Amino acid sequence: MNCWTSDRKSADKELLTALKIDPGFLPAVTMLADHYLDDKAHGRAAKILETAFKIHPHDSIATRLKAAWKSNDGQFIAKLTKLLAQIESTQQKTAHYLVAKQARDAGLDGEAERLFSAARDLDGGDEDANSLWHCTSCKSRHDDWQAFCPACDEFATLVWQRPAGTSPLIKHDS
Ligand SMILES: [Zn+2]
Repeated sequence: MNCWTSDRKSADKELLTALKIDPGFLPAVTMLADHYLDDKAHGRAAKILETAFKIHPHDSIATRLKAAWKSNDGQFIAKLTKLLAQIESTQQKTAHYLVAKQARDAGLDGEAERLFSAARDLDGGDEDANSLWHCTSCKSRHDDWQAFCPACDEFATLVWQRPAGTSPLIKHDS
């Protein structure tokens, strides 16, 4: 049984409802964006992806943004860099590393180097390697986000978690 393809309109409606409650909810963002991209509704896809990226910068959103913006590598990195300015301070470091890696993967070495150096200069503790995806069901930890937990196969249980002792609510801009 595949409820996502058999009745996609009502599925999309439910995904949209989920995004109204939490616009950064990755499983709903990626699924709905994939549907919009399939339908060639690039503007709609870009809208939900940009909103989600500002709340929760993540590779799975960045790669879909490239498709939604229909951009080449240079335009893609330039647009991502623009979004960086609108991301809240607690996510700045993670977001800078993410865009830097995208720039490096695109072969834009100069831009990648500039972003890596900007990321290192940002306050906010150690590199993002300290944070991991953490399953709320089985407590396992994973390097990458996936819709289904690789350990217990539960859906949408992976959350981004910092190690104990650091609070993402503390701002470091003093
Ligand atoms: Zn799990």
